[in-house]
Amino acid sequence: MSNIRIDCSFPGGNIIIEDIDGDVVTLRQDRRDTEGFWFYWYFRARGAAGRTLDFRFTDGKPVGVRGPAISLDEGDTWAWASGITDIANSFTFVFPEGADAVRFSFGMPYTQANWDRFIARLGDHPALSGDELCRSRKGRPVEMLRVGRLDGDPLARVAVTCRHHCCEMMASYAVEGLIESVLTNDDTGRWLRENIEMLVVPFVDKDGVEEGDQGKNRRPRDHNRDYDAESIYPETKAISELLPEWSGGRLRMTLDLHCPGRSGDWNEHVYQVGRDRPEMWHEQQRFGGILEASREGALPYSAANNLPFGEAWNAGQNYDLGCSFSRWASGLPDVQLATSFEIPYANASGAEVNAATARAFGRDLGRALHRYLEQAL
Ligand SMILES: [Zn+2]
Repeated sequence: MSNIRIDCSFPGGNIIIEDIDGDVVTLRQDRRDTEGFWFYWYFRARGAAGRTLDFRFTDGKPVGVRGPAISLDEGDTWAWASGITDIANSFTFVFPEGADAVRFSFGMPYTQANWDRFIARLGDHPALSGDELCRSRKGRPVEMLRVGRLDGDPLARVAVTCRHHCCEMMASYAVEGLIESVLTNDDTGRWLRENIEMLVVPFVDKDGVEEGDQGKNRRPRDHNRDYDAESIYPETKAISELLPEWSGGRLRMTLDLHCPGRSGDWNEHVYQVGRDRPEMWHEQQRFGGILEASREGALPYSAANNLPFGEAWNAGQNYDLGCSFSRWASGLPDVQLATSFEIPYANASGAEVNAATARAFGRDLGRALHRYLEQAL
């Protein structure tokens, strides 16, 4: 009776099918070149309309705290399966009648097609300029966007990077919100367009995003450990060459957006990763206070949740793995604040993380950027 077909033959796809037996599908995430466990997966099931299937994972608990994200329109829109539960190694799905293709993932996948749609929606705008940072190892164009004051004479420059770890897709929706905040006709948008030039690299690990890799703890080195003198990836090499030149003495702030682990401490609230230098930690806390006061979106943020250097996973032994983007950027002349944010995949202090709330958090970041830089400049 089984004519169920499961595949991952689309951008971002990732799954290994072990067995399909009646209504039970046994499967696991494809770790590829990841060192140790990680939990990203993204597949499509066809031929199951009207049936109820059990999906059972064999490699740990890669189902997040709101269950799988589900798309009934081939990945255009997503919803979580449930309210807050716990991580799990299985889920059950009742396929609606007529649901010929249903996509499931650990999160709400965001690939180049999403970015292209976003850019098309923005349309031509005098404060927006698209470019190519470089080609990836596999020859893909790596996007770069400049937004804000583009005439070469801004008061300050800000660099924004995302997907150093390619699986961390929820951060991409925040990038959209941040860009929107520059283009909106309100106080923040007008001030940012008058004073700030922002450079955005939306997919630092472009091949990983499109091919559905984990990216986190990639061997021999992940993209966010590749800012020592000899970068092995074209994207990190291009960023480390471009930023000092592009700065022109005005690069004041860098912002690197990530998603954390699946659940528990440090994984279910938004936070900044504390830098080791006290003066930088002070600026992170100051920006955090401003962000806390700027919040209008649904995702809570409290500067008290920032993770100081030396606590939990944020320790000096990571330095042995290679230099991260924010650590590298904090050493650039003129940079006053180099920070990284962790945005949970599903649950932020009880609030649901989804495309809309993560975008709204990006707009909160834009408002905070405005207030922080207005004070600083
Ligand atoms: Zn990350």
